[in-house]
Amino acid sequence: MNVFSRSPDEIRKVQDAGIRRMMALCEKGHAYYREIFKARGIRFSDVKGIDDLESIPLTSKADYMARPEDFVLKLPDASLFERLIYNVLYTTGTTTGRPTPFYNTAHDYYATLMISKRVARIVGLTPEDTIANTYPLTTVPHLTFFAAFWYATVIGARLVSTLTGTPNPEFPVTNSSRHAARMVETSGATVLWGIPSFLRRLLTLAEEMNLDYHRVRMAAVAGEPCSRGLREDLVRRMKRLGAKNPRVNNRFGFTEISTVLVECDEAGECGFHNPAPDHFFLEAVDVEAARRVEDGEPGYLAVTHLNRRGTVLLRYLTGDIVVLSRERCPCCGRRTTRVVSQPYRKSSLIKFKGTLINPEPLVKALSGVPEIDEFQVVFTRQDPEDPLSADHLQVRVATTLDRASVRDKVIDLCLQTVEMRPEVLFVPKNNIYDPDKGFKSRRVVDMRVTR
Ligand SMILES: [Zn+2]
Repeated sequence: MNVFSRSPDEIRKVQDAGIRRMMALCEKGHAYYREIFKARGIRFSDVKGIDDLESIPLTSKADYMARPEDFVLKLPDASLFERLIYNVLYTTGTTTGRPTPFYNTAHDYYATLMISKRVARIVGLTPEDTIANTYPLTTVPHLTFFAAFWYATVIGARLVSTLTGTPNPEFPVTNSSRHAARMVETSGATVLWGIPSFLRRLLTLAEEMNLDYHRVRMAAVAGEPCSRGLREDLVRRMKRLGAKNPRVNNRFGFTEISTVLVECDEAGECGFHNPAPDHFFLEAVDVEAARRVEDGEPGYLAVTHLNRRGTVLLRYLTGDIVVLSRERCPCCGRRTTRVVSQPYRKSSLIKFKGTLINPEPLVKALSGVPEIDEFQVVFTRQDPEDPLSADHLQVRVATTLDRASVRDKVIDLCLQTVEMRPEVLFVPKNNIYDPDKGFKSRRVVDMRVTR
């Protein structure tokens, strides 16, 4: 089915049918929702479409993390295709230290492959591409690492995994980031697949090593925000390595949909498209009232599965605050729901000198300074040993260029974005982020919290 050419009414019919089917399956074999519905006096058969979803309570991350096995459908009479667990991914961001499993049956895995094919079409990946998967090998299996395999498999593209990541002395399979940088050259990769901060370091390293990336045409990024400044910085670095007309494709993904919401346009001005409105219903909600907010208004993103058999979530809160649009996309004409704002989280606000500040605009601004190789914004105290001493803002910077002018620029950006004058410290770039050790860079550190 080409969901992108369907009218909003037609998509809605598919979504309503999806809800009804999921309700019937949850009634049969979903331990958590059977219990919740019973306690609240909700009948599964009363939920007939997306408009009835508001009668269902929201599911928080904590609800799901507390008993993930109870979110898996138990359908003993279903076919092997529907009930066999095909793979397990784990969600990040656990506060308990225990990663939360997300189970996919064969049904779900086939669906993921099909959705990957749609995403590839939106992004413009082709069988001629060679994808360099630079996501690291980690102890806990993450969506991002495996997704590159799925895309390459389903469109018939070539794949090379650079396999940096967590080393294991008994099984020495991981590579250094220098080795990874060289693999991109020798494989003739056309697509760099990875987390923005890691790709930035990889490109810096490639320049130091005088490598030739002339075949690279795209950096497909996900896993952390990619501001306009960072996007331009990546493009500049790819060009310096020989890439002719490179672009950045930004995606917003999470394990609980096993795919990404994806940009269609080069400039990233038309938001993140839901590639599977027949599989996931997205709403922005006011959590306290458990009500859907209007399109165009900010709200917490809630996802409802419409066609799954393993882990099933209804009105699941991802924790991100987004603005949604169901208007036809002005860039590509697709009619599917889009996230038209940069998703952010409330937890990223920091109480500093008595007020709540959002460090994101500062991080965004610093990401776009070409002279800066790495940076970190540190919220600390005048005297770190004294818990009563005044709050103090530090920006740690790595650069190989003129320090005085970089210092002035950093101070200026801090005054513009957070209205504070920082202390600027110059440090080696690996002191801020060592790509051979960490999964992603920490751009903001609150030393007052970790003490
Ligand atoms: Zn579009």
